[in-house]
Amino acid sequence: MTQIEITFLGTTAAVPTKVRNHPAIHLRYQSENEYCYLFDCGEGTQRQILYSGLNFMRIDEIFITHLHADHFAGLFGLLESMSLEGRKKPLRIFAPEAEKFVEALQSVGYSSKNFAVIPRNVAFEGNEIERLVDAEEFTVYAIPVKHGIPAVAYAFVEKDRIKIDKAKAKKLGLPETGPLYRKIKAEGSDVFNGKKIMLDDISIVEKGKKVVYSGDTMPCSNIVKLASDADLLIHDSTFFTDLEGMEGARHSSLDEVMRIAKQAKAKGVILTHISRRYQDIKELKEKIKGYENVKIAKDFMKIVLK
Ligand SMILES: [Zn+2]
Repeated sequence: MTQIEITFLGTTAAVPTKVRNHPAIHLRYQSENEYCYLFDCGEGTQRQILYSGLNFMRIDEIFITHLHADHFAGLFGLLESMSLEGRKKPLRIFAPEAEKFVEALQSVGYSSKNFAVIPRNVAFEGNEIERLVDAEEFTVYAIPVKHGIPAVAYAFVEKDRIKIDKAKAKKLGLPETGPLYRKIKAEGSDVFNGKKIMLDDISIVEKGKKVVYSGDTMPCSNIVKLASDADLLIHDSTFFTDLEGMEGARHSSLDEVMRIAKQAKAKGVILTHISRRYQDIKELKEKIKGYENVKIAKDFMKIVLK
């Protein structure tokens, strides 16, 4: 059994409120192993991690969507704390212009970190999906989005799993267990009682789950492409009304996000990066009433995909 646990550590847009911290999302992938990834790291993220019962020492890699301070300012303190707590493992930071950014980050103040911070530039122009991490059980991708400065969206995609279908195997007269299954899984086929058994004959494909995080963006075709068939699309929804003059804001509104989700055939949507103009959650819940499978993010909200 595998699961993806997503914790919203900050859900405001630009300026914090009493209940919404600067953007950050923690994703924990649990299989036989555990992987913890942090997407964006606004100011105060390390305390939000503590409040949410997570452990910042477990973070394996960090992905920053763009270099506006509300999405990265928490890195200063987080990296220091990791060092003070004895981190030795190198830490990769993915971001558009990461090399330039990490160099600047490391040159501020006096610090003697005991672990290497490795920047990894993410392409922020064009329409190609870029593969950043290719692990045994999942892949992390990025695509450029539209925010007026170099900005990207990320996708965490679990790989499909091939499972033995016991009912199908039984029908073919195969034993319940045995080395046969290992061989068929590894080599695609085996011979049993003189009959060739193909993997396809006795297996089912369990589709991997897909989570996409837009970062800050105006509606664009790239996010539709990345979010195609996503189980969960976490999208910038700074505004809930299509007000005139918002075009220059370089963000998305509720209706725009829902159009994107529909085009991408995303199964669930979470709206985040909420402008502080919306203090009343009841008012926002009214606005999403007509839509299905959509939620408004709040700090410390957890979503588990199994
Ligand atoms: Zn921004």
